Amino acid sequence: MIELEGVSKSFVQDRNRVPALRGVSLSIGKGEFYVLLGASGCGKTTTLRIVAGLERPDTGTVSIDGRQVFDHTAGTWVGPEERPQAMVFQSYALWPHMTIRQNIAFPLRRGVRRAAKDEVAARVDEALELFRLTEQADRRVTQLSGGQQQRVALARALALRPKVLLMDEPLSNLDAGLRMDLRLELKELSRRTGITCLLVTHDQEEAMMLADRVGIMQGGGIVQEGAPDELYNAPASEFVATFLDHMNLIRSASVTAGDTDGAEITASGQRLRLGPGDHRVGTTLTVGIRPDDVVIVVDPLSGSAPATNLVTGRPIDHHYLGGHFLHRVETPFGLLNVRSPIGPDRFASGTVCLQLPAERLITMAS
Ligand code: ADP
Ligand code: MG
Repeated sequence: MIELEGVSKSFVQDRNRVPALRGVSLSIGKGEFYVLLGASGCGKTTTLRIVAGLERPDTGTVSIDGRQVFDHTAGTWVGPEERPQAMVFQSYALWPHMTIRQNIAFPLRRGVRRAAKDEVAARVDEALELFRLTEQADRRVTQLSGGQQQRVALARALALRPKVLLMDEPLSNLDAGLRMDLRLELKELSRRTGITCLLVTHDQEEAMMLADRVGIMQGGGIVQEGAPDELYNAPASEFVATFLDHMNLIRSASVTAGDTDGAEITASGQRLRLGPGDHRVGTTLTVGIRPDDVVIVVDPLSGSAPATNLVTGRPIDHHYLGGHFLHRVETPFGLLNVRSPIGPDRFASGTVCLQLPAERLITMAS
């Protein structure tokens, strides 16, 4: 439904050409919910505006619904009004002097999308219904809360029956509770309507929750793409691992032994077993482990204590997070963050034994 091939774009800033996108390629299937995730300035909005036709790339090709809308070499260009899309922004961009109903109806009545009067009324009613706005339909949009305003903006976009819905940080202005509600609505909606969705955000949790597939952007390119659990469980690089989650990293680990059941790595003179995987002896890796996955071994000398992947550390400090603690522990691998329900009163002061379970260790390229 959406295809980008080798799309580059630079902007002039202070008389210098600064690249914003460096050869972005992307393929989004019909009905798919795709999320571009990245820090501010990495090129998310530029990518979205290129799909919308609000920005013209320097190189590459763009197709929507099988139709080429931009081809640098052939000089093809199809303007935004001829593309089968609707867009929703972080600022709701509603017309303040209009009612909810008028805001939804207005784009339907004008331009190339001009629809018959009955058709407009039917689509507006349907959109109102979809977002449970029917009762407030004749209120001015300025009388609404932020969450309701964004629902109007979404209703307005969907009333256009777009094949593609483009959303630029649509939930970022909402407070946490409303954001969660609207995420659920958005997810449900995409399932029900089958509209292809492309959403950009800097919020990891939002991306994980909404996406069928996430593309992680850094410095104007997509550095990894996959289903949320694939990215979470197998980040390809330190950047992806630390961006998605606060992962502990053990750098410069070398694979010192290996067989089909797993490998053994050595870092800072300590050995650790890895779970099954393809690791060749002699290679150097970065190993990650999440704070939740580090186990505090309260009584390392008891018979039931785990025997492998133990490391002794010195607790630096403890933070109560409500229900569990964050301990920072100095170990031969460096400072490790440990999140555990076990409080500091349960282990002797000055020393703590940790286990880094083999099946919880995530390996990535150094
Ligand atoms: P994001 O949405 O991920 O925060 P953007 O796509 O808005 O990132 O911006 C990517 C880069 O391109 C940034 O360095 C930004 O300053 C630059 N940029 C974007 N739009 C323009 C513009 N119209 N003029 C100049 N520079 C721009
Ligand atoms: Mg942006």
